[in-house]
Amino acid sequence: MGIRREHIDDWVIVGGGIHGTCAARALVAAGAEVAIIDPAPRLLDRWRSRAAAVSMRWLRSPASHHLDRAPVSLHHFVHGENDPGALRLAGPFRRPNLEAFMRHSSRVIADWGLERRLVKSVVTSIRQEGGLHRVECASAEPRLARRVLLAVGSNRLRRPGWAATLADRGAPIRHVFEAGGDPVEDVIGGGISAVQVALHASTKDGARVRLWHRAPLRVSEFDFAWSWAKHRFMGTWQDLGPRGRQDFLQRTPRRGSVPPGLERRLSSAVSSGRIQLMGPVGRVGWDGGSAELSLEGAGLRHPSAGVVLATGVEQPSAPAVARHVGLATELPTSAGFPLLGDDMDWGMGIHVTGPLARLRLGPVAPTIVGARWATSKLPGVRLQPV
Ligand SMILES: Cc1cc2nc3c(=O)[nH]c(=O)nc-3n(C[C@H](O)[C@H](O)[C@H](O)COP(=O)(O)OP(=O)(O)OC[C@H]3O[C@@H](n4cnc5c(N)ncnc54)[C@H](O)[C@@H]3O)c2cc1C
Repeated sequence: MGIRREHIDDWVIVGGGIHGTCAARALVAAGAEVAIIDPAPRLLDRWRSRAAAVSMRWLRSPASHHLDRAPVSLHHFVHGENDPGALRLAGPFRRPNLEAFMRHSSRVIADWGLERRLVKSVVTSIRQEGGLHRVECASAEPRLARRVLLAVGSNRLRRPGWAATLADRGAPIRHVFEAGGDPVEDVIGGGISAVQVALHASTKDGARVRLWHRAPLRVSEFDFAWSWAKHRFMGTWQDLGPRGRQDFLQRTPRRGSVPPGLERRLSSAVSSGRIQLMGPVGRVGWDGGSAELSLEGAGLRHPSAGVVLATGVEQPSAPAVARHVGLATELPTSAGFPLLGDDMDWGMGIHVTGPLARLRLGPVAPTIVGARWATSKLPGVRLQPV
């Protein structure tokens, strides 16, 4: 396809999720010409659909974690809106409800005209051309850009091998982020999403839901230590060197956790018999109608008309993402992570944010505050991460 030589973007951002949108706002504010490429019909589409899939009502992160520049922006927004019932901040961490976070995000997107910078397509290849990047798209004109930001998130759902095999054969088993609906009789997973899905399913008339997880559930306000999002940690993280950082990431528990408030709601649903806590799943079968689940080491089979896997997403690796976006240039990696410079540059003007930037930003890299940190390091940007 042809290319308009006269038009060169300062930045092409691949992915219009939380990370791509956070960066886009800051880059536009810094005066850059930005295009965001994502096949979704609107920005933050995957965030919205995943939040809906797990019946999320509150964010886990505090009100200071959002897409705008100043940490207090969402706080002011909620208190400035004339809709105190719908927009709320709660608890000691001032967590926003989903409605508040989404309305604030929509305002940021509108204020900076970000939606009209969205090119609805999939990036299929990125290669050097005359000192620029030529970004090919599946269903749009190619673009020339001075710099590229990879913000593609986690594209692969995590599911045990047996689940994929049985689901392909028609068993009533699906990942929570896949389309599908009722009934939900069994939920597999031990993190916040699994508990939210089980609680939501248990509110239906006469519902009894089994929650299968590796006992005990880990109860914690956040999935990571609060201090890991702070300046002090970020200041010393780089000093560990790539090897020390890899060791740290490997030692960090990947297992999901449940905040105390949600755990209390779960306990009450268990006491009233609406949810039954199981242990780890052992054997899973399918008789052509129901799926059948048994506990590890036990023979009793529990028939199920609907099994939902709340088992999260796979952490992407550098080679997998490079293949996914057709990155022609070979760039340096260490143990599957890209080696990123101070300004999140992987080399030759290809920058990275999101889960792929964990070696640069630590365990918070995939989260909203991770997006703020990554954005704050991009050339020319002014943003206070926390
Ligand atoms: C249910 C849920 C609740 C969460 N709650 C919180 C919370 O409260 N606080 C917090 O800090 N974090 C939370 N997180 C974690 C994290 O903040 C989110 O997962 C966040 O959406 C990650 O944003 P992202 O931009 O990295 O990825 P995504 O939202 O996955 O966006 C990536 C985008 O890239 C696009 N893309 C992929 N490949 C291509 C390609 N080749 N070409 C063009 N586009 C492409 C995709 O279409 C997608 O739109 C939550 C996660 C989930 C799933």
